[in-house]
Amino acid sequence: MEILNPLLHSMVPDEIAALIRDAGQPRFRADQMRDWLYRQHALDWDRLTNIPATLRERLAAGHDISGLELVERQVSRDDGTRKFLFRLRDGNTVESVIIPMTEHPTFCISSQVGCAMACRFCATARGGLVRHLDAGEILEQVIRLRADLLNESLEGHGDRQFNIVFMGMGEPLDNWEQVRRTISILTGENGWGLSRRRVQISTSGPREGLEKLLAEPLGVGLTLSLGGSNDEERRKIMPVPGRTPLADAVRLAGQYGRAVGRRVTLAWVLIEGKTDLPEQAERIGALARSGPFKVNLIPMNPLDDGKDLPPAWERCLEFQNILTDSGVMAFVRASGGKDIAAACGQLRRRRQRLEKKDGAR
Ligand code: SAH
Repeated sequence: MEILNPLLHSMVPDEIAALIRDAGQPRFRADQMRDWLYRQHALDWDRLTNIPATLRERLAAGHDISGLELVERQVSRDDGTRKFLFRLRDGNTVESVIIPMTEHPTFCISSQVGCAMACRFCATARGGLVRHLDAGEILEQVIRLRADLLNESLEGHGDRQFNIVFMGMGEPLDNWEQVRRTISILTGENGWGLSRRRVQISTSGPREGLEKLLAEPLGVGLTLSLGGSNDEERRKIMPVPGRTPLADAVRLAGQYGRAVGRRVTLAWVLIEGKTDLPEQAERIGALARSGPFKVNLIPMNPLDDGKDLPPAWERCLEFQNILTDSGVMAFVRASGGKDIAAACGQLRRRRQRLEKKDGAR
């Protein structure tokens, strides 16, 4: 297999400094490089105009400054959701989404190609895990989404702030090394300098992952995807994270919330006839009252097999009412971009099928 050059955007400030030192260059060059990477978000060697050509060539011999290429961009006519499919240097593809929200747009980014968690309702799960993404590949999604937004602002979103959620393809805590590195570059004072408040990790809650997160609470927000309201349901719907008992996952997530002083979100996908039952709402309510939690209800975004459907809107509201009546903060999240297959992994899946068809011809 072809070995890829490391990505410059994967490097933390100290590593950039070491790289410049090893090249026998004065220290101010490291500051210039950091400016190009973390402030100007350069994806092209030619943009580095104040870096001598000899140094650029030397760096380019062992490093790449970009690892993504846009393959497809779709804009939802319903709500302005923008969906991107990027090709990585090894030919794999990942998805990212810009979701218009009331305050700031949200960037939904991927942490892995595929995913090993095998959740039944998720399109990404269908192909299993292909590989982890590098920090630079995760960051470049943010860079390219930000550039897209600057190029064409969303109506009603005058400022240039955005939130970042790890709710695209992959299980971020299964790729903790690179996700942690990404967050440290994004929120580091010598990195991008973004507020930790603007970053949110969403996890299906495998125990090892939650324990790693707790060992090093970075201050970013946390969402725990429940999948089931008791262990039996959870194991059926989320076979891999379901190995961690629900009570343990919820307890660890609550501990994290207390450690960073932020309420943790419990995410619940509503599937008609399967996960929209009143007794499930009661059980989720009990879990949510056990710690610093609120609940997000996400109506199922149907996959191409058309098997599982979202409940009627009324039914979603009834489910929400059971929670709010029991004293739990609960919200129904209308999922955006239905017309462009914006749910986790759907665009990549559709594309793979098209390419297979093409190949068969
Ligand atoms: N692995 C992480 C992040 C990716 S999934 C996690 O599990 O949280 C992000 C969110 O999308 C999760 O809450 C997941 O339950 C939800 N999700 C996945 N597929 C969905 C679908 N088809 N419809 C609605 N929500 C979905």
